[in-house]
Amino acid sequence: MEVPEKIDRLARRAEEISYQMQQDRARAHERTRLQNEVDKAKPTARKRFWCRHCRLDFEGIGRKRVYGTAERPEAVHICRCPECAAACHRLITNAGKDRYWLMSHRVRRDRGRHRLDLLQPSEFGFNTMYPDAMKQHIKDMEDKEKEIEREHYDPSLRFGRSLAMRKALRRADYRFRDDA
Ligand SMILES: [Zn+2]
Repeated sequence: MEVPEKIDRLARRAEEISYQMQQDRARAHERTRLQNEVDKAKPTARKRFWCRHCRLDFEGIGRKRVYGTAERPEAVHICRCPECAAACHRLITNAGKDRYWLMSHRVRRDRGRHRLDLLQPSEFGFNTMYPDAMKQHIKDMEDKEKEIEREHYDPSLRFGRSLAMRKALRRADYRFRDDA
């Protein structure tokens, strides 16, 4: 083998090794980050949860559960729905992907209110239809939910939430989804 060819091969090999080491470091860094999040989280925590079966936003004591692998440690807080006993999760690791923020009616309403608070007098839309329309929208959503809960209340059930109520809530939810 010619000398320049040998040097070429060695250089390529060195590059490969350096790339591999960089990948390993990035993985180790990510593992440490996740492990820290898992360790930092309390074994139990009072949080809000969302039951997708009951369309119910409730506060409860979440118990920490660690899962995942040594390479990718992950953890959640789990709380049983007071109504149907389904396990509801809040993410501890990758909290940005927590479905609660997407699903909960309460969060979506608060977001609407927040948007109103953020609107400045100088902004287009202030003192026009927009805040009123938004306020009205939030109020409509709450009224509709209350109405459904009244209409379908079943006193024979522990929490009164009949299947018909959940279905009606889900239908109303879809109607409000995009503009809430
Ligand atoms: Zn439930």
